[in-house]
Amino acid sequence: MHNLKNLTLNELKEIFKNEGLLSYRAKQIYSWIFSKLEENPDNFTNLPRELRNRLKNEFLIPSLEPESIQESKIDGTVKYILTLPDGEIIESVLIPDKERRTLCISSQAGCRMGCKFCYTGKGGLRRNLEPWEIVEQVIVAIKFLRNRKLRLTNMVFMGMGEPLDNFDNLVKALKIIMEEKGLAISPRRISVSTVGIVPLIRPLIEATGVNLSVSLNAPDNEIRNMIMPIDKKYPIETLLQALKDVEIPRRKRIVIEYVLLKKVNDREEDAQKLIKLLRGIPVKINLIPFNPFPGTEFERPEEERILKFQEILINSGFSVFIRASKGSDILAACGQLRGAVLKEFT
Ligand code: SAH
Ligand code: SF4
Repeated sequence: MHNLKNLTLNELKEIFKNEGLLSYRAKQIYSWIFSKLEENPDNFTNLPRELRNRLKNEFLIPSLEPESIQESKIDGTVKYILTLPDGEIIESVLIPDKERRTLCISSQAGCRMGCKFCYTGKGGLRRNLEPWEIVEQVIVAIKFLRNRKLRLTNMVFMGMGEPLDNFDNLVKALKIIMEEKGLAISPRRISVSTVGIVPLIRPLIEATGVNLSVSLNAPDNEIRNMIMPIDKKYPIETLLQALKDVEIPRRKRIVIEYVLLKKVNDREEDAQKLIKLLRGIPVKINLIPFNPFPGTEFERPEEERILKFQEILINSGFSVFIRASKGSDILAACGQLRGAVLKEFT
């Protein structure tokens, strides 16, 4: 049975063609599922009854009900905990900020990249998400916002998992999310954050046109090696060369993410090294003060240090933002997501 939520519009049209069904019916169905967010074929009122019955008998239209929705009292951040059909648990987080509502979504249950400062990484990879399990996180948030008469404005792949480690399903999900007849979210409003799997950076941009964020997190290989195992395979020079080579639209910039860890990568000399590394590459820098989690050996630098680090970079002409950490009262901030563990303890 075909899972309709795993298909791009073109794929659905192709299936319809092979089954002798009319191509415009594929468009109608796509719009019911991904634009009106209807899942029950009985409600697809502009389809003949016979086709509705075929949909019910020959196709799947699965959905995920949030197991729990937690809303932060401090800043309105919303965390959705979703149980997948096989019992795996993933999380996505909706972050309101002035006129923006950004959804942070997961690409894998767990992650195998093993970054030392990351709660998700500590638990290892459970499994890749199917395209529809990625798309469904968006649908859940849009339905939630619709009840409050609000719209989703932006999406970032910064939840659980390394998006490029699930490349094919990621690209498929992005195509579904961007499809004009469906969810129609523009690639300009979508960012994919990667730990730096170099050979897949260009293919991602070419296939989807989304914005790119790269987790550099260190000013040299010595430090990066220690906190991010991926650095042994793709060291900083290789990564930065790939960023120089990739073609991004004019006036757009790659975002460099840098998690600030006390006494590990937050010193003035680290900032100076970072400046040398990034000079000449059109980037914006996002500093993410470390968000602690149970059992971690790392600490968050003091506010003063964070601001000093930012100032040094700004004085060298970089655009530098400090990522306010939202939703920390519900463990919803960057690097604090770990569905599998929740499962074990609840
Ligand atoms: N796997 C991808 C995307 C998910 S992680 C990546 O690594 O880029 C999203 C961001 O959260 C990354 O920039 C990562 O460095 C950061 N992060 C991970 N753990 C963190 C923590 N404990 N505190 C602050 N940021 C963290
Ligand atoms: Fe995986 Fe990203 Fe966490 Fe590293 S920081 S372990 S790549 S989720």
